[in-house]
Amino acid sequence: MASFLHKVLHIGPDPAIVARVDTLRAALAIIKVDIDTRHFLWDLTFNGGHHCVSCSPLGKVGACGPTCALLRPTGSVLPGIEAAMSEKWTRTTGQLSIRYDKLMLSVPASGYKVSISNLQQWEEAVELLQQRLA
Ligand SMILES: [Zn+2]
Repeated sequence: MASFLHKVLHIGPDPAIVARVDTLRAALAIIKVDIDTRHFLWDLTFNGGHHCVSCSPLGKVGACGPTCALLRPTGSVLPGIEAAMSEKWTRTTGQLSIRYDKLMLSVPASGYKVSISNLQQWEEAVELLQQRLA
């Protein structure tokens, strides 16, 4: 009924869609933390224990200034951790990051103007990310 009234009266976005999009946004915020943590762990392992909040995500060394952590001399990799980060783990992290970035290009930009089919695609994509990151 609410959906019908919103269409007839043109009184803003359908509350059911608003709720679903908001749920997606909340899920993506949690997924971001998981992906960022994976990148952080990867950096610590393969960049001699160095990570810069500004430069590491961009892949640019020293862009934030002369005190950038990535400019420090690198030590050895953290013992024991490198082995846990298999090639498969690294590849999966890369794939999930790409999927996350694609969602972040479309979900926030759409506002609440989204078709039901697009919304369903996003929900399936988010569910897949949640399963793979679990
Ligand atoms: Zn930096």
